[in-house]
Amino acid sequence: MPILTYHRIVETEPLHDPDCVCTSVARLEAHLDWLAAHSYAGVPLDLALRPAQSGEGRRFAITFDDGYRETLRLALPVLEARSLPATVFIVSGVVGGSASWNHEPEQLLTSSELLDLKSAGIFIGSHSQSHRRLSTLGPEEIRQEVAGSRADLEQLLGSTVRFFCYPHGDFDARVLAAVADARYTGAVGVRSDENHRYNLHRIDAWRMTTRQLGMHVSGVHRWARRQPIPGAIRRLAARLA
Ligand SMILES: [Zn+2]
Repeated sequence: MPILTYHRIVETEPLHDPDCVCTSVARLEAHLDWLAAHSYAGVPLDLALRPAQSGEGRRFAITFDDGYRETLRLALPVLEARSLPATVFIVSGVVGGSASWNHEPEQLLTSSELLDLKSAGIFIGSHSQSHRRLSTLGPEEIRQEVAGSRADLEQLLGSTVRFFCYPHGDFDARVLAAVADARYTGAVGVRSDENHRYNLHRIDAWRMTTRQLGMHVSGVHRWARRQPIPGAIRRLAARLA
């Protein structure tokens, strides 16, 4: 099932976006409207863990990383207008702070804004406590980042946090084990080399055109990359993507 990744939704996309995080409201709307027009139904992330039932049709899920303040003001109205579920991944140690890991440290959602998102039906997931690269940390720090962030968010929200998102998409076997130990339902990554419960593959929708998005959600893009002989179709797919 295609899982889309967005970061920061903005009114106008800046020409200079060094962190590759800004997607305009208009582009987000165009993506979601294209998916609806092609019979893709937006579903909660949980459903990525089970195969589609017969007659269920095409599905996709939406995720937003880091929890920028605009998620509430600009992304939520777009989702609500289309009755679409989404999961927002929050760095529990910097709620109400700024994204210090970016070149441009934009403002992050406050605790009351997180509660507003939750009340609106948005799912909240964990994106660690500090957004550090987890594979560079020792075992106790990994445990804190993975299990501690879940505890922080569950205390703040008063509800269960079920999904984890690796900061920078970075993990190793120790991090995977910590996510399993913390009893997360699943985790999302950015690597496509393996696709399992704790590394659900995602599509970075950032500045994609609807045509590029269509190729990624339909799987044509990944199929073309896997072909042993780089034929005309593969070159065409690469050019279109
Ligand atoms: Zn992040």
